Amino acid sequence: MKWTKTHIFTMKEAPGDAEIPSHKLMVRGGYIQKLAPGLYTYGNLALRAIRKFEAIIREELDKRGCTEILMPMVHPQALWEETNRWTEMGAGLLKFKNRNDQWFCLGATHEEAVTDYARHDIKSYRDLPRNLYQIQTKYRDEIRPRFGLMRGREFSMKDAYSFDIDQEGALKAYESMYQAYQAIFDRLGLQYRIVQADAGNIGGSQTHEFQLLADAGEDALLVSDGSDFAANIEVCPAIDPAPHVSSEAEKPVEEFATPGQKTIANLAKFTGVGERDLVKTLFFSTNEGQDPKNKDLKAIAVLLRGSDELNPVKLKNVLGMTNPPQMLTDEEVKQVSKAWPGSCGPVGLEIPVYMDNGVQGLKNYIVGANKDGFHLKNVNHGRDFKPAKIADLRMAREGDKDPNGKGFLKAYRGIEVGHVFYLGTKYSQKMNATYLSKDGKAMPIEMGCYGIGVTRTVQATIEQSHDADGIIWPKSIAPYHVHICVLDTNDDKVMGLSNSLEKELESMRLDVLVDDREERPGVKFKDADLLGMPVRVVIGKKGLDQNQVEVVNRKTKEVKKVAPDQVMGAIREVLG
Ligand code: ATP
Ligand code: MG
Repeated sequence: MKWTKTHIFTMKEAPGDAEIPSHKLMVRGGYIQKLAPGLYTYGNLALRAIRKFEAIIREELDKRGCTEILMPMVHPQALWEETNRWTEMGAGLLKFKNRNDQWFCLGATHEEAVTDYARHDIKSYRDLPRNLYQIQTKYRDEIRPRFGLMRGREFSMKDAYSFDIDQEGALKAYESMYQAYQAIFDRLGLQYRIVQADAGNIGGSQTHEFQLLADAGEDALLVSDGSDFAANIEVCPAIDPAPHVSSEAEKPVEEFATPGQKTIANLAKFTGVGERDLVKTLFFSTNEGQDPKNKDLKAIAVLLRGSDELNPVKLKNVLGMTNPPQMLTDEEVKQVSKAWPGSCGPVGLEIPVYMDNGVQGLKNYIVGANKDGFHLKNVNHGRDFKPAKIADLRMAREGDKDPNGKGFLKAYRGIEVGHVFYLGTKYSQKMNATYLSKDGKAMPIEMGCYGIGVTRTVQATIEQSHDADGIIWPKSIAPYHVHICVLDTNDDKVMGLSNSLEKELESMRLDVLVDDREERPGVKFKDADLLGMPVRVVIGKKGLDQNQVEVVNRKTKEVKKVAPDQVMGAIREVLG
């Protein structure tokens, strides 16, 4: 393809809203262009990379017996009401009415749609197992779309769904998809980790995330240095390497004045007690999926050591909620505790108190007195208040013990590119998707669901594979394999060689971009580095006069000067 016949516009500077390298490079290379927040046009170069990634996905899924379908993007309200997710999904689901005053939403995920599809067709155990997938645009009304294609509102996802007669079959399907994902991400040649994860509001019990390692990743991961344990911080058990268990005798409670001491840091300075040995009290609403203003407030308190951080996903799971609970406003805290935040504590509260197990070993500790400007010292659980539950509610951190007991945890950042879930019968029961078993009984179908963020992965590839000059595409999804810079476009010999090389490469199923613009060599080289095709070939009059063509490896920057009849060999060497 000749540059002058396609549509590529590069930029020197990235716009201000591009914060991370991959976003900057995609915009600068004209790969993507913003239409509105979270909505991007994929330019031809981006589309070529996306299509190649899709082809890899199709190949790996098809050979494992998956079948491609395509479902609607617009779904009727009644479908989502069957599983209660019309409400549970909250504002992430974009809802709208048609001319007949009927409600619809844009598909954020397709468990409901695919279960509806399957329940019409699947009648008997003979129709199982099945694995159906699609590659399609999803819409999620993300609160904060950012980082380009990483967190878009509209994005492309590969979603697959497995249907089996029993749990054994469903777990086999899970295993097969897990292996398919390994094969898919291996073909990008990138560094990734498979981690234990939270099922979110998709539901289900067993789930793993595929995370590309990158500093700009939004997910925190903890990986053991002594075993194969790896988890998203959201679900990682927190095991203190040196748990503190006090053997002090319980002393009588004393109230003391702490004027203006509202944060743990200030209180630590004021009292001389370390943050680790102070206990903080947080307040949450357990009114699920409703505007608490319209409901009686159902509040709970949570106790943590001053130096620990609450893990909202663990709290959600302990409470059996679908979404992490909302924090109370200052006014609501005052209403349930009689004090403003900063002076609250568990003693005398009339709401359930959930205590992090890190507090368990402490004795005679300091908490807010539920009286503005006062705290209590020598407080002890059991004696002064009774926790409704003691559980692991805090964020694990680097240095914590590996839950397998084999070493310690190390922290990484990751970009979630894929996610596999075992669903069980959560959707089939609610939606009455059954099959007739061998002995003629109606049984709910066992399901799993499996997602890959197609557009996110393409950008995440750049996040892991770039340098100061631009993108470094892996061969497997590079928009073009070879980028020919023609330095003297008016020279017949130069153009002739470029054209014949282009033809020869294309006959070998290699994709070629020929920069035939009338631009200075420096401009062409800069653009070639920015766009990031694996091999650059430079053909100029001066070189040809000495029977020389340059072949440059984008990744290593190694330059080889070879005779025209050696060019193919040199290109093949770089492409491996
Ligand atoms: P996240 O935690 O990043 O919001 P998720 O867990 O809600 O993602 P899933 O429902 O597991 O996402 O969706 C499957 C895949 O779709 C994810 O693994 C991710 O790669 C991709 N994905 C999800 N949300 C977005 C988005 N807003 N923009 C681009 N890709 C996304
Ligand atoms: Mg996920």
